[in-house]
Amino acid sequence: MDYLQGLNPQQRGAVEQTKGPVMIIAGAGSGKTRVITYRVAHLIRSGVDAFNILVLTFTNKAAKEMRNRITDVVGLEAKNIWMGTFHSVFAKILRVEAEKLGYPSNFTIYDTDDSKSVLKAVLKELNLDDKLYNPNFVYNRISAAKNNLVAWQEYQQNDQIQADDFQSGRGQIGKVYEMYVQRCYRAGAMDFDDLLFKTNELLKLYPDVLYKYQNKFKYLMVDEYQDTNFSQYLIVKKLASINENICVVGDDAQSIYAFRGANIQNILNFEKDYPDLHVFKLEQNYRSTQNIVNVANSIISNNKEQLKKNVFSEKDHGDKIKVNRAFSDNEEGKTVAESIMQERTTSGLKWNDFAILYRTNAQSRSMEEALRKLNIPYKIYGGLSFYQRKEIKDLIAYFRLTFNPNDEEALKRVINYPRRGIGDTTVDRVILSAGQNNITLWEVILEPAKYLDGRSAGSVGVFSTLIQSFQVITKTLSAYDAALHIAQHSGLLKDLYEDKSVEGLNRYENIQELLNGIKEFSEREDIEERGLDIFMQDVALLTNDDNDKNPNADTVSLMTIHSSKGLEFPQVYVVGLEENLFPSQMSLNSRSDLEEERRLFYVAVTRAEYKLNISYATSRFKFGTLINCEPSRFLDEIDPQYLELDFKAKQKNDNPFFNDERTAWSRNSNNGNNDTFSKPKPPAAVKTTSLLAKAHVPSAGFAPSDTNNLQVGMEVEHERFGFGKVINLEGKKPDVKATIFFKEIGQKQLLLKFAKLRIV
Ligand code: ATP
Ligand code: MG
Repeated sequence: MDYLQGLNPQQRGAVEQTKGPVMIIAGAGSGKTRVITYRVAHLIRSGVDAFNILVLTFTNKAAKEMRNRITDVVGLEAKNIWMGTFHSVFAKILRVEAEKLGYPSNFTIYDTDDSKSVLKAVLKELNLDDKLYNPNFVYNRISAAKNNLVAWQEYQQNDQIQADDFQSGRGQIGKVYEMYVQRCYRAGAMDFDDLLFKTNELLKLYPDVLYKYQNKFKYLMVDEYQDTNFSQYLIVKKLASINENICVVGDDAQSIYAFRGANIQNILNFEKDYPDLHVFKLEQNYRSTQNIVNVANSIISNNKEQLKKNVFSEKDHGDKIKVNRAFSDNEEGKTVAESIMQERTTSGLKWNDFAILYRTNAQSRSMEEALRKLNIPYKIYGGLSFYQRKEIKDLIAYFRLTFNPNDEEALKRVINYPRRGIGDTTVDRVILSAGQNNITLWEVILEPAKYLDGRSAGSVGVFSTLIQSFQVITKTLSAYDAALHIAQHSGLLKDLYEDKSVEGLNRYENIQELLNGIKEFSEREDIEERGLDIFMQDVALLTNDDNDKNPNADTVSLMTIHSSKGLEFPQVYVVGLEENLFPSQMSLNSRSDLEEERRLFYVAVTRAEYKLNISYATSRFKFGTLINCEPSRFLDEIDPQYLELDFKAKQKNDNPFFNDERTAWSRNSNNGNNDTFSKPKPPAAVKTTSLLAKAHVPSAGFAPSDTNNLQVGMEVEHERFGFGKVINLEGKKPDVKATIFFKEIGQKQLLLKFAKLRIV
C-alpha cells in the first residue's frame, strides 16, 4: 500500500472507503482531486476491473492528467477506465444507443453556433423579431429548460414558465423551443444539452439499458460536484442506484456555474438521497501559503450562503499579496509582464510557473500585447477553439454531411462554398420545398428534378452527387486519405491555396494542421476503429486545450478564471479588479449573483501556490471608449494585514485618469446600480451586531480614498459600515491604514486606498 503514503488520514479514509456513498465537500487545494485519483488507483489495485469504473471530470484535460497519474500506479490497465466530462462520456453511450431514441448512431453534435443558427431560422419562420427574441436569450432559456429536464411539451404547459415568458413579452418561446427540437431531430443532431437530456430520456424509457449501465459502472466518481446541474445529478443518481458505490467531491465555495444551471442543491440532495452517507472533511490546504489561504478565507467569509469550513495551510506564511494599481489597462499589462520577467530572472522559475487570470476574455488583449513586447512566450487557454475557426468548420461540415446528410446546418454551410453557383434564392427554394413536403433538405437535393425548377435543380444535383461520392470513398479509405480526398474534391483546399493574403495562408495552414491531426489519428494503434467517422464523433466536444499539440511547452498561461478551475500555478496574477468588471456589471442586481462573483474571486486566488498578485486599472477601453474605473469592492473586503500595496505607478495627482471627482461622478451616474451598495453585509466577524449596518443607506459622493486630510478624531462615513470615528492612522502614503470605530459594527481597520470613505 506504499502508493497510499502520500495521503493524510482523512484523505486516506476517503480513498479506502470504497463501498457505499461517499461525499467530500472541502475547501480549495485540500486534495479532493487527489483523493479521486488515488481512489481509482486503489480500486484497481484491490482487484476492481477498470472497465467498471466511471470518473466524471470537469474538462477533458483534467481526465487526461488523472489517467496519466493512475497509469503511474497501475500501469496500462488505466486505459480501460471510463473517464471524461459528462458530455463526452454520455455522447459515447448515446452513439451506441441512439437508434432507440430515433437518432442515427452517427448523429451530429450541434455546437452553440449551430444551435443559434437553427434558432435564427426558426425565429424567421415564425416572424418573430430577433431583437426581442434575442437568439442568445432564447438559447439560454431553452438550455435552462433542458438542464432541468423540462421538455417542450411541459414548457408550453407550465403556468409559471408561460407567465414568465408572457411577462417579458416573449410568449412564443415555447413554440420556438418545439420547432427547434423538431429541427434538430430532423437533422439527426443533438445539441450540447441534449447529450444529458437524451441520456436521461434513455435511462428512463429503457430500464434494460439503465440496468446494463448500472451493472457496468459499479464504481462512480464525480469531481467538481458543486457545478453539476439537475440533469447531471439525475444521471449519476440513476446509474448509482443499484450498487451505491458513488463518491462525489466538490466545494460549495467554488460553485461558479449557477448562471448555466449548476445547482448547489445537488450537494444537499446528496445527503438526503443517501442516508448512510460517509462524509469526509479535508481541512488542510496543501497548495498555497498561509497568506494566500487567509486571503481566500477572508474573501469568502463575506458570502452569506456557504457551508462553514475551516481551511488552513501549514506552509510558510509566504509573501503578502501584492496589489497593484495601474492607470490604464495597457499599463496593467505592462506591469504584469515586467513583474513576470523579473520574477523569473530572480527566482529561477519557468514561464510555466506563471498564470494570468481574468474575468472576461477581452482582457487578454492588453496582457498579450505586453507579453509580446517583452518576448515572453504565452498560451491562451479556452479561447476560440481551433475547431471554431471558419475554415476548419467548413471542412468539418463536409465530413459531417458525408456521414449524416440530414445535418442541415452543415448543408447550409457548404452548399455554396466554395462557390458553385447555388445562390441564396436556390437555397431558399430548397428550404421552402423541404418545409412544404415535410422532408429534409437533403431529400430535396437528392431528387432535385422532383422538387425544384430546372436551373436550381441542375446545380444542387451536382452538389448532392459530390457528397454521395464522398459517402462511397469513406467506406474504403483510411481517415486521412478520405479527409484529404474531401478537402481536395470539395474545392476547399484549392480555394484557400489561391488566397495569397496572410490570412489566407494561415487558413491553409490550419487545414494542413487538421489533416495532420487526422493522419496521426488514423495511425493510432491503441484503438481499433480509426475511420473518419470515429474521428468526427467527438470533434464538437473538443476545446482548444484538448487540441494542444505541445502541452508541455514552457509558456505563461492566460485564461479566464472560469477555465482555471481545479488548476494550480506557483505564481498567479489576477487582473482587472474593478467595479463593473469584477464583480461584473451583470452581477450587481442580486445578492446571489454577487455571491457567485465572490466565489469566482475565491477560485482565482486559490489557484496560487506561492505568490499572488492582484491588480486593477483606473481607466480602461471598453467598446472603443475610455472609461474611468474604480477598484473592486472585493479589494475592500480583504483583511489588509495580508496585503502589500505596490503602487509604484504614478502618484494620484500626476495621473490624468485618476481624479476623485470624476470617479465619484462615474459611480453616481452608474445606471442606478448604486442601490446594491445598501445591501452588502459586513464581514462575518461582526455578524451579530451588524443589522443596522446592513441597512445603512450611503450618502451620495463616495469615492475611494477621498481622505487626504484625514486625521485621528475625525468623523467619517463609510459606504457600507456607516458612521464612525478615526481612532488611529498608521503607515505611509499610499499605504495608510486607518482604524475606525464604527457606531454600528465596532472597530475595523481599513486601507484608505480602497476604503469607500467620506469625511463628514
Ligand atoms: P481544487 O478545489 O482547487 O480543485 P483540490 O481540493 O482538488 O483543489 P488537489 O488539486 O487535489 O486539491 O490538491 C492540491 C495540491 O495539493 C496538489 O498539488 C496536490 O498534489 C497537493 N496535495 C494534496 N494532498 C496532499 C498530501 N496529502 N500531501 C502532499 N500534497 C498533497
Ligand atoms: Mg480539484
